[in-house]
Amino acid sequence: AAGALPSVQKAVFFTENGGLDVLKYEDFPVPKIGDNDVLVKNRFAGVNFIESYFREGIYPTEKPYVLGSEASGVVAAVGKNVKGLEVNDKIAYLTRGALAQYTKVADTSPLVKLPASSTDEQLKQYAASLVSLLTALTFTKESYSIQKGDFALLYAAAGSAGIAFNQTLKKAGARVIAVASTDEKLKIAQKYGAEFLINSSKEDILKRVLEITNGEGVSVAYDSVGKDTFETTLAALKRKGTFVSYGNASGPVVPFALSRLTPKNVKLLRPSLFGYLGSKEERDYYFQEFVTGLESNSLKIPINKTYPLSEYKQATSELEARKTTGKSVVEI
Ligand code: NDP
Repeated sequence: AAGALPSVQKAVFFTENGGLDVLKYEDFPVPKIGDNDVLVKNRFAGVNFIESYFREGIYPTEKPYVLGSEASGVVAAVGKNVKGLEVNDKIAYLTRGALAQYTKVADTSPLVKLPASSTDEQLKQYAASLVSLLTALTFTKESYSIQKGDFALLYAAAGSAGIAFNQTLKKAGARVIAVASTDEKLKIAQKYGAEFLINSSKEDILKRVLEITNGEGVSVAYDSVGKDTFETTLAALKRKGTFVSYGNASGPVVPFALSRLTPKNVKLLRPSLFGYLGSKEERDYYFQEFVTGLESNSLKIPINKTYPLSEYKQATSELEARKTTGKSVVEI
């Protein structure tokens, strides 16, 4: 089968940092795999906000840089040391470079082999769910271990990560205070588990949080907005609360004095999903939770829209302009 592989494919990449204009959808070499890698012929890939940070240079990368972080597809070639995967196996995986027809995936990457009977619809659902659900599963256990009755403040609550957090937080017994910019988005957050709703376009977030928590503040805040919400989030925490800062949708948090954490003895983390999936034990544990949740329908990421790979630019422009809810997916 290896002989049948093309040497050139279509991929989404950039050669310089910048806005949407630097995105290219053009010919790009098919990656060469090593002994511990597989080559995946992608079928669906998720559209994530993180790609905008790579593109803009907020997170530095090599160049040219092929975008994409999660996909599902079929194994097209297997390195000689790889165990447990064969050509034609269906898999879903987390690896950089997934917005392309072919992606090189190391056998130590977070991945799951899917049943041969998996339908296109299932492959799409897996590609749409990996980053969001695994982020919510790890961040509600590792960054802060949710206890029953905890108040949790959640921003971007109708986005793909937000919907995943609503479900996992509710399942763990937290009382979710959801923030989003429109009432339509808040309705979605509520459907997936939020108990309290704050419309950031017309309400004072801090004032509402203090009302809801009887002046005490929240046990944990999941803040993916970054720069614009840092002060509000810090003020909304209760004594000994935990601030999980995990994104930069409005720009990176501006450097601040550590002593800002002292008055309430708060904890602050700035985690990444990949950092919680570093060992085989961690990957096995969280993928088991992920697959069980997905297959039993107790965890579910609604799909916003499916675009052809060639229209990734349109997909990310809508995501970055706050026009989407749930997850956008590209078909490859
Ligand atoms: P979303 O689907 O959540 O889309 C982003 C949402 O952020 C928007 O819909 C919008 O919701 C909100 N937002 C607030 N301020 C802005 C702004 N200035 N510009 C644009 N959007 C804004 O995206 P994802 O689910 O892909 O990701 C959500 C966040 O989580 C991102 O910041 C991402 O980087 C982060 N993330 C981090 C991970 C990690 O490992 N650290 C892993 C996964 C995600 P609203 O209009 O309701 O405010």
